[in-house]
Amino acid sequence: MPETKLEVKLLTGTPNAMSLIYAAFRQCYSPGFAGDLWPGLIQGEIEPGKQADFIAKVLESGHDSPVEHVCYSFAIQGVSRALTHQLVRHRIASYSQQSQRYVDESDFEYVLPPSIAKVPEAREKYEEFMSQAGSNYRELKAILLEHGRGKKAIEDARFVLPQASESKIVVTMNCRALIHFFELRCCERAQWEIRKLAWKMLKILRTELPVIFQTAGPRCERLGYCPEGEKFTCGKKPLKP
Ligand SMILES: Cc1cc2nc3c(=O)[nH]c(=O)nc-3n(C[C@H](O)[C@H](O)[C@H](O)COP(=O)(O)OP(=O)(O)OC[C@H]3O[C@@H](n4cnc5c(N)ncnc54)[C@H](O)[C@@H]3O)c2cc1C
Repeated sequence: MPETKLEVKLLTGTPNAMSLIYAAFRQCYSPGFAGDLWPGLIQGEIEPGKQADFIAKVLESGHDSPVEHVCYSFAIQGVSRALTHQLVRHRIASYSQQSQRYVDESDFEYVLPPSIAKVPEAREKYEEFMSQAGSNYRELKAILLEHGRGKKAIEDARFVLPQASESKIVVTMNCRALIHFFELRCCERAQWEIRKLAWKMLKILRTELPVIFQTAGPRCERLGYCPEGEKFTCGKKPLKP
């Protein structure tokens, strides 16, 4: 039963993302019609640099709902069920996760936390448990099949799978939800696995739409101070004055 590695792929994003955000902002502040502005906008009538400057300025004022018009979809694999349970707590998003009811997990892969990987004694215990969980799953499945549970056997056998078992998920979020996600999950206080995922997604989006994501990241980057308090601060920024 092998350990697994995190993989994040951007599947797609809203086309003409920057122009769409620009048009949405302009609709708020101009007497004209965004529908009339649009054809020229996507033909490059307004320089990308000018659009970016305008967007950055309005965003600074805290008016950020127009960024909700742009969404990104990611395919993610090599993450634990422990991670996906945290991820799906972000409600302003859409998810499609590999089902343990329909996908046989007899040969499930698992995530190995770095802290366990580097201590041979801990790693041995961990791997022994994963191997045992795999055997238990397969044996339970066989017993349930023998007792007529049919295709539903894996639906019940999955109850013995550990939180470490690997999962695959497709997630779609709009830019506003993504910025919020990065504020919480790129922070050193976030759990290491979801933090690693968040930084990978942010790295991709910084290339994809820098006007929005170049300055995204943990909350302290925007605030200039750490809002986590003395107990949880990582010390990179001063505490809230
Ligand atoms: C470091 C850390 C530790 C955590 N520890 C725990 C824990 O111990 N236990 C636990 O249960 N969770 C924990 N969480 C999860 C956390 O409580 C949130 O559920 C999760 O981060 C999703 O955030 P969110 O609700 O802001 O995001 P989303 O669900 O995406 O919502 C985005 C924003 O929309 C608004 N919103 C969404 N739904 C509502 C609503 N129903 N009512 C009002 N406003 C709404 C809010 O402004 C919210 O911030 C932890 C998160 C972090 C980052």
